[in-house]
Amino acid sequence: MSKKQTTEESMPTADLRDEYPRFTRAMKGTHKLLVPNMLPVHFGIILDILRDDGWDVELLTNDARTVIDEGLKHVHNDTCFPALCVTGQFIDALKSGKYDPDHTALLITQSGGGCRASNYIPLIRKALRAEFPQVPVASLNFAGLEKDSGFPLDLKTIVKLAYAVFYGDALMALYNQCKPYEREAGAADAARDACVAAIGRAYKEGKYRRYKQIVNGMVARFAAVPRSREEKVKVGIVGEIYVKYSPLGNSRLEEFLLAEGCEPVVPGLMDYVMYCAVNNVNDAKFYAKNRRSAFAFGLAYRYLHHMQRKINRLLARGGFAPLHDFEHLRKCADKVLNQGVKMGEGWLIPAEMAALAETGTENIVCAQPFGCLPNHIAGKGAIRTLKRLYEHENIVAVDYDPSATKVNQENRIKLMLATARENKQEKGAAERQAAERARGDKEPKEGKG
Ligand code: SF4
Repeated sequence: MSKKQTTEESMPTADLRDEYPRFTRAMKGTHKLLVPNMLPVHFGIILDILRDDGWDVELLTNDARTVIDEGLKHVHNDTCFPALCVTGQFIDALKSGKYDPDHTALLITQSGGGCRASNYIPLIRKALRAEFPQVPVASLNFAGLEKDSGFPLDLKTIVKLAYAVFYGDALMALYNQCKPYEREAGAADAARDACVAAIGRAYKEGKYRRYKQIVNGMVARFAAVPRSREEKVKVGIVGEIYVKYSPLGNSRLEEFLLAEGCEPVVPGLMDYVMYCAVNNVNDAKFYAKNRRSAFAFGLAYRYLHHMQRKINRLLARGGFAPLHDFEHLRKCADKVLNQGVKMGEGWLIPAEMAALAETGTENIVCAQPFGCLPNHIAGKGAIRTLKRLYEHENIVAVDYDPSATKVNQENRIKLMLATARENKQEKGAAERQAAERARGDKEPKEGKG
């Protein structure tokens, strides 16, 4: 018998297909659904919608070191950092004793993309098999994945969720444009809480599609926050979707930037949703794949982009900077990377870095999860090209992994901020000189006249 045969016999390949409990619609009345925390505001609105629909859902906020330790225990440390955080947060929560494992299920979104984002569920199931084999995992996705454990979604719920993402994005933009400048501590947080409550009421009353009323209400509430006129350093946050948004994944990056006296500029979640829709259309165009679904995704994209433009107009009319226009993002992507590069966050990362530079945010943190090849290629790998295109762009790539210390990450960002402050001073001095020159040019002419 050959050596190869012996190894194969002693180590049979694990078949995970039938060894997990299925998630079913009937669990609506019997199970609590736990959701990992990626975007606190957006997910707060979305979970309220699911609660109104009769689901018992809870957003996880456990973020102690035990989360990472549980992740390391169950997920191979070569796997990307977000997979480790999500799995660890679930297992840590289940071990807290707060939940009855016989009546608890885990809910996770899946993008359906080609990278590991679509493979979190087997990793979570593997961890559960060792610790809580009775706990099912439900998948919320639009790609037809996990047919035997998919979270039930009808068209009405999908539309509700899409509006929730738009409102979450608008709220995030308004909050970040007010919080650094508030004259009364906590005024921006109070405005955000009031807006979340108003959005919740609109959903309860079935008026969630009245986007004009809702967005104008949010704009008015934030416009009433007393703010200083001081100009702060704007810092864009881009990168892989989990570490870009999740306070657990990015060591509370937004809070850190606010504490450093900066204005965080965070691109919207809807950009990622539209990125996924466009990729499905491009699959048919570039790779002759999914021709049938491409038409439906094309229609969905056009509708979402139309809505995005309308909401952006309302924000701009209210005196706030709008979010990126997705067609502008696509044009920005074309300057750096082909739209066929769509693994992970693919072309969206350089597109966001370029769009930030073109809209006045030249300082950028590119959040890089450990073990994420797509992000390293499309994010870090595009920085040189971006700096050639936008010479003042000041980008720092920060690694997030289980062994990186918060102090190291923050020190890297502080170095980038030191350059940002120098650039701001130089720009201010150049503008003052130009203004003086313009006055000087004007005075003799007036004298002559
Ligand atoms: S994009 Fe990167 S971090 Fe995100 S799931 Fe894929 S490999 Fe992991």
